[in-house]
Amino acid sequence: MGDEFEERNVRIGVTNGKITAIEEISRVPDVWIFPGFFNAHTHLGDTVAMDIDAPGSIGDLVAPPDGLKHRMLRAASPQTCVDAMNASIRTMAQTGTFGFADFREGGINGVRYLQEANRECSLDSAIFGRDGGEAAGDGLGVSSTRHYGEELTHIVETARANGKKIAIHAGEKDSRDVDTALSLDPDVLIHCTHATPAQITNIADAGIPVAICPRSNWKLGVASSRQNPPVHAMIDAGVELMLGTDNVMFVQPDIAAEMAFCHYVYGIDSQKILKMAVAGAHITGRDYSIVEGNDARFIRYNTARSNAQFSKNMVTTIINRFNPRDCEGSLLMCDLK
Ligand SMILES: [Zn+2]
Repeated sequence: MGDEFEERNVRIGVTNGKITAIEEISRVPDVWIFPGFFNAHTHLGDTVAMDIDAPGSIGDLVAPPDGLKHRMLRAASPQTCVDAMNASIRTMAQTGTFGFADFREGGINGVRYLQEANRECSLDSAIFGRDGGEAAGDGLGVSSTRHYGEELTHIVETARANGKKIAIHAGEKDSRDVDTALSLDPDVLIHCTHATPAQITNIADAGIPVAICPRSNWKLGVASSRQNPPVHAMIDAGVELMLGTDNVMFVQPDIAAEMAFCHYVYGIDSQKILKMAVAGAHITGRDYSIVEGNDARFIRYNTARSNAQFSKNMVTTIINRFNPRDCEGSLLMCDLK
């Protein structure tokens, strides 16, 4: 229940998609109810290049503007692009994710393809376009301030004047593009894998949430210890962290897998990890916590179907052992074909 995942024995009433009642019950139910996940950073478009074998580092493959990923995106037909993103959206929905924030390449058309791909499942979404795509989406997604010159300030100001949110990749390879990103006062920063202590303080003071993508960082070779991203320092400083899975090209957009990775590699407290897996909904202005009046975005998890019934710590079991097979009802807000 609530922001801190307090465990209570309750029955939850839902009317017209909203939580309208939370009633205490005396027995201990078999079904756990907890908030759905939000994937705070994806590149769904590169589903078209999933697990491709290619020479060179993965970093080179995803580097804009001419890395293999970008060449494949340009070569893919619009229908292939829509179908691929739709398939990844289904995969997310099937693994407990109710919403996502995506960096969409390909300008206005790229954003429209993703809107089309999400029409059927209708997950909550924040689409950050670029190269003009910000006009059709929810915001502007900046690959890194190092990829732009002075024109970036004007691009950001124009997007903001049009009511768009600003999201910026920063600190992924080193700390050198973090200060310039901060100077643009973004709504969310992505990665901060190499943010310095001083930058972390500034991020916390500015109240800017950070979407971290640890599996992507390890796969890309920009992290090799629990010091990067500096999750514990960011948590201690009061930075709001959110979990994302980054490029579908080489990381499955499965937040449960990201949660387990965070627990094993970084040793983050279970409650904090679950909070990170849910907090991304704030990017869309939603709140997935189980509180009367909020949208019903929760998962019903039947522990009687698995060894979860022997758990002595509900939240630790959720973040380490979540299995969609044990979810009751459809996780999809659309019907599976
Ligand atoms: Zn990214």
